Amino acid sequence: MGKAGIAIHGGAGAIARASLSMEQEQRYLQALTGIVASGQAILAAGGSALDAVTEAVRLLEESPLFNAGKGSVFTCRGTHELDACIMDGHTQDAGAVAGVAHIRNPVLAARKVLENSPHVLLSGDGAEQFAREQGLELVAADFFSTDERWQQLQRAQATQQTLLDHDGAAQSAPLDADRKLGTVGAVACDSNGHLAAATSTGGMTNKQPGRVGDSPLPGAGCFSNRRVAVSCTGTGEVFIRTLAAYDVAALMEYSGYTLRQACAHVIHDKIASLDGSGGLIAIDADGNMALPFNTEGMYRGYGYLGESPVVAIYRTR
Ligand code: ASP
Repeated sequence: MGKAGIAIHGGAGAIARASLSMEQEQRYLQALTGIVASGQAILAAGGSALDAVTEAVRLLEESPLFNAGKGSVFTCRGTHELDACIMDGHTQDAGAVAGVAHIRNPVLAARKVLENSPHVLLSGDGAEQFAREQGLELVAADFFSTDERWQQLQRAQATQQTLLDHDGAAQSAPLDADRKLGTVGAVACDSNGHLAAATSTGGMTNKQPGRVGDSPLPGAGCFSNRRVAVSCTGTGEVFIRTLAAYDVAALMEYSGYTLRQACAHVIHDKIASLDGSGGLIAIDADGNMALPFNTEGMYRGYGYLGESPVVAIYRTR
């Protein structure tokens, strides 16, 4: 039986150019630590990997620091369109929602799709209607808005394709908000050796309404089977084209790669060769974890049962 544990991410990206106070950095590290600890507590109480990733991603959605749920980025029309996916590795059941604008916690809607729908992916109004019928909380569209994300949209629209050259003066987060690839996710292995993965996102700033990225697509931004659980963050279109999350599982199953080899190959070779950037978190049935990224940083954390959470933002080597 592998070691039970959980890993989370809150997006990958470039280091902010503005100098940050320790306090700003601490806000992120504390949020990550608390969320890892919540996931560990669920696993320690005998909870399933599916429950642990659901709660970790719900908490990440509730935090305005991360681009999912509250604090989601804006589309080019100043609206929000949220996507989420969850997958139970033991049964290989999956549930997902895409392009929703009023469901407070998209990961909970994805979980309801997994449990109570014959379908895997529901989008837009139909997904919201389903969430309402399932008793989930719906909110006004501006519930997700924050001033920081609105300023980010203004900068993106002012600079159009030169988004990466913005002046980072308004920056207040360790990773440059305009060059950060949003999305949150969690992967876990419970004490039965069962795996699960979940991913949730507001998508990309200034995106075209209707655009769906990799996050709600099983196999692209989220995947779990009995061997491995994976949650991705990055340039969604490249993660879709490479089926990045499934590719980790396939390399392990068909080519005999270890978890670390498979994750490194996907992020540093395959994604990078198509000019994609981002990262992923993964855990295998032995409890091995990998958290690779090809950007300068990724908000991330992990913890095994009975051990203190480990959290980090920047590259450590
Ligand atoms: N992968 C997500 C998307 O493309 C967001 C991100 O991680 O940037 O929607």
